[in-house]
Amino acid sequence: MDNISVTKEFTWDMAHMLAHHEGMCQNLHGHTYKMQVEIVRFTGNLIKGSDPSKGMVLDFKDLKDIVNERIVKELDHAFMYWVNSPDKTEHEIARILIESGKKVVKVDYRPTAEEMALNFLRILRDEFKKFDVDVKSVKVWETPTSYAKAW
Ligand SMILES: [Zn+2]
Repeated sequence: MDNISVTKEFTWDMAHMLAHHEGMCQNLHGHTYKMQVEIVRFTGNLIKGSDPSKGMVLDFKDLKDIVNERIVKELDHAFMYWVNSPDKTEHEIARILIESGKKVVKVDYRPTAEEMALNFLRILRDEFKKFDVDVKSVKVWETPTSYAKAW
């Protein structure tokens, strides 16, 4: 049987720092992140019958709305703060930003593209269950030539 999936791309700007990184990434810096979310139907078949989504895996609008609402909106122009960071500078930065009402997203993982991709995959798998589809893969780009893929 042939396979079919749909993929949508998202971007956001975000700051982070990688505690104890031996290179430049220990510094506070930002990326324009890019993410691709690939969706596949459990059955492998397109929607049938008289459904408004007939012939689709999932309406691109639903894909866009859910990923924006659940992931991208929260991250855009935020500082991603690792709450267990061994670098006290990171806690100081987060404290100052939070106290001055700036956008901070707290996570319990080191904010690498790999951890993000895995975390977003888990969140989205749960979100898309109600559509009877699965998230086949999540790719997160930190630079135009470097991405992590979770599936
Ligand atoms: Zn970085």
